[in-house]
Formats: sequence, structure tokens, C-alpha cells
Amino acid sequence: MSHCLSARSIDHVILERGEVANSWKTERWDSLRLLTPNWLSRLPGYSYQGDDPDGFRTMPETIAFLEDYATAISAPVRTHSRVTSVRRTDDGYLLSTEQEELRCRSVVVATGACNVGRVPPMAEALLPSIRSLTPIEYRNPDQLERGGVLVVGASASGTQIAEEVHRSGRPVTIAVGEHIRAPRLYRGRDIKWWMDAAGVLDDRYDEIDDIGRARNVPSLQLAGSTDRRTVDLNRLTDMGVRLVGRLAGVADGKAQFSGSLLNQCALSDLKMNRLLERIDAWATVHGLDSDVDPPHRFEPTRVESSPPLGMDLRAEGIRTVVWATGFRPDYSWLDVPVLDRKGRIRHDGGVVDSPGMYLMGLPFLRRRKSSLIDGAADDARDLSDHLVRYLDQGGQN
Ligand SMILES: Cc1cc2nc3c(=O)[nH]c(=O)nc-3n(C[C@H](O)[C@H](O)[C@H](O)COP(=O)(O)OP(=O)(O)OC[C@H]3O[C@@H](n4cnc5c(N)ncnc54)[C@H](O)[C@@H]3O)c2cc1C
Repeated sequence: MSHCLSARSIDHVILERGEVANSWKTERWDSLRLLTPNWLSRLPGYSYQGDDPDGFRTMPETIAFLEDYATAISAPVRTHSRVTSVRRTDDGYLLSTEQEELRCRSVVVATGACNVGRVPPMAEALLPSIRSLTPIEYRNPDQLERGGVLVVGASASGTQIAEEVHRSGRPVTIAVGEHIRAPRLYRGRDIKWWMDAAGVLDDRYDEIDDIGRARNVPSLQLAGSTDRRTVDLNRLTDMGVRLVGRLAGVADGKAQFSGSLLNQCALSDLKMNRLLERIDAWATVHGLDSDVDPPHRFEPTRVESSPPLGMDLRAEGIRTVVWATGFRPDYSWLDVPVLDRKGRIRHDGGVVDSPGMYLMGLPFLRRRKSSLIDGAADDARDLSDHLVRYLDQGGQN
């Protein structure tokens, strides 16, 4: 957004509570690599120039990439400037940070979609001897007590953490709710390459059937690694990780799991196959069939016939529960009445329901790729166009 505003000669500042790339510096686990290939983090005027376009950035590499970008575009960042309140004024907004107050005509909320780990209230029913962690707090297995680990949630964070923790010698059980399975490689190419080429990542918010639903679907079950492996439930089962159904409740030291495991996995396989069908159709229409491997389908997710519906956590030696149950934004600093009853900002494709206010970086904000680094460029271009029109019209939406 800063790049787009500078290109349009709009005077602006970026207020950052920490440092550039703060979430990557302070809220990610040590071994994490981006699950998007290096080439798929194109920022306005800046793309990958290294010799490993299909590799996956480590955290230090991701941080360096964003720092270099901020320098390259001379982004006017004020670091260690936490915004503590934003209020509407007659002609714009009044922002307070811990150091200063600023007046502006327009605000872009780009504080991220993943500020807080979502932990269901049932976590409070865990025995005090069991430690709860979210992926934001998790760094590496050494942080955990010896003993069993229950990972709740089987999307990108849950499956990656389950794999790493199990490898450390701690037996892992993973509670599987709704998830979206995806192979790392399909027909010899990265799944993200296919999704980008076939236009899946460009699906628009105003052209799909149920945008409310689309904004809430979990992240693809993918991981970035040097061996490009697929980290799906079959892989976890092969390693010895135990699959159980969605965690439905905790009471008297016992966890209860839903009986929906088989259905959840079948649904996830179905959705994966729908994606592969869309890719195959696109490949045929675009004459790619002779250049890539033939279409194929993956083994369905294997599920034991009667997965347990309950677990005595102490008897099973569970010492840690990792709540990989998603994230939510934190808008506690926003004093403008734009939140709906679920605490989400009311907006139309990032144009917030308050004059001159915009939103960036949320799932399916304007496109399927909106929450990816690669999605920022198109959204910032569209929203900065709107913002410039707004300013030109003297602040009329
Ligand atoms: C575990 C995980 C893995 C991910 N993997 C990938 C991936 O492989 N590829 C990919 O493209 N994307 C990935 N993402 C998504 C990515 O992190 C971001 O959602 C995306 O980069 C959007 O960036 P952003 O700048 O909008 O949000 P963020 O990167 O979250 O940045 C928001 C910034 O706002 C600051 N901030 C928050 N509140 C305040 C305040 N009150 N005052 C001042 N500053 C504030 C934060 O410190 C932070 O620096 C991943 C996300 C997570 C959680």
C-alpha cells in the first residue's frame, strides 16, 4: 500500500508497533518456512531474483525479504509506534500511539489477520498440569514437557506442528475438524503454481457464491520444505501420529471427540479433487497436457474404522495441548463503530463502512490470495485507486 500511495504522491506514514516484519520476527515457530514458493511473493515493483524460485523462504529469509523491500521503496515506517486508538473526527481520523497523536484524512488498517490464536473456551476445563499453547507461542519441541501432545486442528499450522513434535519423540494425537487437503506437487508442478496459473488465487470476492463462507475456510494443509513433501493426514498416520475427530469438549480430565472424522476426511478429499479437476480442465484448455505429467488422484485419507470418541488425558500421558484452531485479528484499539456482532470489520472488498477507511490482508478480502504476501499488490492497487478518488472528492465516499 505504501508503494502505491508513494506512486500517487500521497503523503503517508506507516505506524508499526514493533519492527518491520514484526509478525514474522515474533509470532512464528523456528522451523517454519513459507508455504508459498519464493517466486510467489511478488510485491509491487519487487519480485524474487535468486536462483531458487521454487524453494520456500525460512523465517530469517522472509524477514530479510520484507526489510529489503521496505528499504527499496523508502517506506516511511515509524517503528515501535503502537496505535492505541483511532477515532473519527469531522474531516478524518485522530490516531493515538504511545508517543504521539496524528490527524489524517484516511486510514488503512493493515494490522494483520492473525494477531491472536483462537482458543475455544473449553481450554479452560483442562487440568492445570496440562499446558496450553497456540502456534503464536510455539517455537520448537524443546519448549514442551516430555510426554504426549494433543494438537487440535489439522490445517497448515496443526499438521506442521504435529509432524515436528512427533519427530521429537513425543507421541502426538491430532484432533481433525474441517480442513482442506492439498498435495504439494501435482502433475510435476507445485500446487501453488497451478492455482496461480489457473486463476484460482485470483477468484474475486464479488464473483463467488458465498463470500462469508469463503472467508472462513481454513488454510490449505500445506508446508514448505527442502524436499517438497506433502504433509497431509496420511503422512502423519504413516509416522505414527494418531488421528481423532474434532475436539468437542473437555470435562473431568477427559477429551471428547466428535464422530465426524471419516466424514471430515471424505469431504476434504472431495474438495481437493474438485480443485484438481479445475486444474486439469484449465491445463487441457491451455494445451498443457503434453508438457506435464498426466492427471491422477491421490489415495483417500486413511481413517481407522472406529476412532476413539474420548481420551483420558492424564492416563494417555498428554502434557501439552497445541490449539492450532485458527487466528483472529485484534481490533481492541479501533474506536470507530465498524465492527459487526462477531467483532469483524464491516467492509466491501476492503472499503470499510466508515469514510476514508480501508482494510488489507484478510482472507478473501478482494481475492482468494488476499491474505498471502502475493495478494497485497493487486489489493493495494485497487484500494489505493479508491483512496485517491476519495481524497480528490474532498472526502466523500
Ligand atoms: C503461521 C502463518 C504462516 C503463514 N504463511 C504464509 C506463507 O507461506 N505465505 C504467505 O504469503 N503468507 C503467509 N501467511 C500470511 C501472512 O502472515 C500475512 O497474513 C500476510 O503476509 C499479510 O500481511 P500483513 O502485513 O497484512 O499482516 P502482518 O504480517 O500480520 O502484519 C501486520 C503488522 O501490523 C502490526 N500491528 C498490529 N497491530 C498494531 C497496532 N495496534 N499498531 C501498530 N502496529 C500494529 C504488527 O506488528 C504487524 O507487523 C502466514 C500466516 C501465518 C499466521
